[in-house]
Amino acid sequence: MQRLIEGVHKFRNDEFGNYRKLFRKLSQEGQNPHTLFITCSDSRVLAELITQSKPGDLFVVKNIGNIVPPASAVGDTNSTAAAIEFAVDILRVADIVICGHSQCGAISALLGQTPVSDTAPHLRDWLKLASPVRETLKREYKHIHDDNARCTAAAEENVLYSLDNLHSYPCVQERLADGSLQLHGWFFKIATAELFAYDPETRQFAPLMPEK
Ligand SMILES: [Zn+2]
Repeated sequence: MQRLIEGVHKFRNDEFGNYRKLFRKLSQEGQNPHTLFITCSDSRVLAELITQSKPGDLFVVKNIGNIVPPASAVGDTNSTAAAIEFAVDILRVADIVICGHSQCGAISALLGQTPVSDTAPHLRDWLKLASPVRETLKREYKHIHDDNARCTAAAEENVLYSLDNLHSYPCVQERLADGSLQLHGWFFKIATAELFAYDPETRQFAPLMPEK
């Protein structure tokens, strides 16, 4: 806790001066983020850091395994579904990024590589939402035996599964139909901080390049 408190003071004393105007503007005018960024709660994946975004740029949802549940599968109190609707319908973001990552503990648990104990029933039920990813792995990745490689493949498949599930939300369907919303699947490699983007044409994740 001491580290957090020291960090708060360090920010106020050393950094806040650089942001003073921006925070005041955001406070007066409200937020207008351009992107809904859905990623894992993992402490090593920092959306703002890896995209060099400023306050007000990203509307971030972090959950276990960056899973987007199908609209039909969620209860009425699902926070990820609520955040998607808020970002798409009310904030009118132009883009949604789903960003998976390497060495994901949630994916490892989904594949049964890390056990989930009986004292974590919510975690177990949440991961069940991504069980189709586990089935895809069984069916299409039989040739990969290495745990780490299977985990990477599943993390990538989970991004695609979650992208598919975004289409099940009426607000997303509407904005896709009128061309005002774009969806992106990304993968972050922790060791090298590289980002890869899914290319629907080649059906591969390729290094993310600046748009020409
Ligand atoms: Zn993760």
